[in-house]
Amino acid sequence: MSDDHVFGPDRECFMCKAPTRWTHPVEKSRQSFRKWGKGYTMRPVWSFCGQCEDFYQAAQDDKLFEAMAHWQERPPTEVEDDLRETFAAFRLADLGPVPYEQPDASQ
Ligand SMILES: [Zn+2]
Repeated sequence: MSDDHVFGPDRECFMCKAPTRWTHPVEKSRQSFRKWGKGYTMRPVWSFCGQCEDFYQAAQDDKLFEAMAHWQERPPTEVEDDLRETFAAFRLADLGPVPYEQPDASQ
């Protein structure tokens, strides 16, 4: 049974839930990565707001983890433990930022 679940960019920033400004498609061959001794597959397109894009480009990962910790109501260190490997893999797979076309449906 094939289950090729393909999903596009989110309207909300992956890190902080603000409206998406940038999307980052990832290289298909690098979507799989290992974490905690297990194989994982990262999302095919990542979505960032303007601020998180700036943090990402400046390699201020701690700010990104803080943003996610805020709405998840978790300690930033816990988010970092969860995402450190994922982010390292994402940086390698990232094909670069693409401006997000905001759909008008919600207006
Ligand atoms: Zn954000």
